[in-house]
Amino acid sequence: MPQLGFLSRVREACLDLLFPRDCMLTGVPVDNPPWRYLSPAALQSLPRVQAPFCDTCGYPFSGMLAGARRCSHCEELDPAFGRGRTAMLAKGNARSLIIDLKYHKAVWLAEDLARLIATTPGYPEHLRGAVLVPVPLHPRRERWRGYNQSRLVLEKLVRLLPQDNLALADILVRTRDTPTQTRLDRAHRATNIKGAFALRAGAVPDLARRHVVFDDVFTTGATLNACCMVLADAGVTTVDIASLAHG
Ligand SMILES: [Zn+2]
Repeated sequence: MPQLGFLSRVREACLDLLFPRDCMLTGVPVDNPPWRYLSPAALQSLPRVQAPFCDTCGYPFSGMLAGARRCSHCEELDPAFGRGRTAMLAKGNARSLIIDLKYHKAVWLAEDLARLIATTPGYPEHLRGAVLVPVPLHPRRERWRGYNQSRLVLEKLVRLLPQDNLALADILVRTRDTPTQTRLDRAHRATNIKGAFALRAGAVPDLARRHVVFDDVFTTGATLNACCMVLADAGVTTVDIASLAHG
């Protein structure tokens, strides 16, 4: 419904004029469009990732390195994907924003978070031409939360990068509601998550296109890897990953 989309954007623009939004991190009114909830000081405070970084997960290295680059997070991973990018480290203010989006229903943050990805040097090039696949939540968890935060960010990202020929395909499902990963060590995370994902019933991946599986946070890579395995088993030949932040 493009008309509705246009009207809602007009409505939002009017509301912005009447009621300037306050920065989610500093509390000051935000007057640096197109950012909506992040002031310049807030943007400055975020631990954004710069090169050089791990080719597999995007975790930054300190100093310049030559040759193959894989960080300690990825050493034991045996990745089912090629390359990975991330926009921030999941700490400090970046972590607060993700917690707000994920657990405090701050869905209005999704556009600024997508913009952080879109303005990370080299990140749009990593996504260019790809089918973007959000890591799914178990249906029970998504019903409880009301949304999948990774999908929300991707929806905004596709709109922010129209020149990059991106497609969003929510083609994976979580078949097992695994215990929360945060209290498990690396080995247990991999076992915990194995076989927890499947192709959505009736979904037909476009095998000719590169797929990029996206999660809000890369922690050990076990979740993203399990999703990539499903796509590889379905016959997708090129699978990469991307995340908003690296934990
Ligand atoms: Zn890595």
